[in-house]
Amino acid sequence: MIIAEIADMIKFKLDRQFDKNEIRLITLSLLKHFWKIPEIDFYTCKQKNLDERFDANFLKSLDLLQRHAPLQYVLGTAEFYGLNFEVDGNVLIPRPETEELVDWIIADSKDAPAIIDIGTGSGCIAIALAKNIKDAKVYAIDISGKAIKNAENNAENNNVRITFSCRDILSGDDFTHVKFDCIVSNPPYVCESEKPEMKRNVIDFEPHSALFVPDSDALKFYGAIADFAISHLADGGKIYVEINENLAEETQSLFKQKGFKYTELRKDLNGKNRMLKIKMQ
Ligand code: GLN
Repeated sequence: MIIAEIADMIKFKLDRQFDKNEIRLITLSLLKHFWKIPEIDFYTCKQKNLDERFDANFLKSLDLLQRHAPLQYVLGTAEFYGLNFEVDGNVLIPRPETEELVDWIIADSKDAPAIIDIGTGSGCIAIALAKNIKDAKVYAIDISGKAIKNAENNAENNNVRITFSCRDILSGDDFTHVKFDCIVSNPPYVCESEKPEMKRNVIDFEPHSALFVPDSDALKFYGAIADFAISHLADGGKIYVEINENLAEETQSLFKQKGFKYTELRKDLNGKNRMLKIKMQ
């Protein structure tokens, strides 16, 4: 098999559901993953011979992609903030919007802060902060034991120390005496009623417990985060949350009602209201 034949095979299988550019990117990723072929060879050495006997996993990957599985789950890895993360169906795939939230926190941060990430999933926020803020003491919780295992593994692979704990923020348990300079969260915020607008790769494969909230109580996680912050935010500390673009005003009001006087809204790379920074004063 030569590179060009593999590329044709991918195109044939996935032509219906992906556009040209997506197919090119998928091809580059699969060539790199299964044959360690660098990107440049795809463009310059299309006749290069690959191993005769190709991995059965390559064919399995094509089937999964055809069934709308996200590439990151198929390959088991995702990139976030320049770092590599192992991901599986127990954790959300890290999103570029969340990189912007991390960017904001890093830009604001002083040395050695105590930070907690609520609903850490793959650990991407906690790990990117631990990696980029000098002497940060980072804690992270998630209700899912499987997510915590995945996040622990990712922390180890990225050589950072994080204190993980399996907790439900909605339980209201006072599980720590630490005061935090920074409380961060990307909680579930997609309303059940928004499901019809979502793509199959998300709906069929990503963990619903990390995505959806009932319309009747869409801000429940923000309420719990605010309550946690009332007892655990250090003097001058800040909260950073990712939010539902359609509920920006309501989310700000919720924090105001809980006594936080300062809120600042930011848009994401698509121009959607996506991030909120909150302070007591
Ligand atoms: N932004 C994600 C999506 O649209 C949702 C993330 C979340 O619910 N925290 O799939």
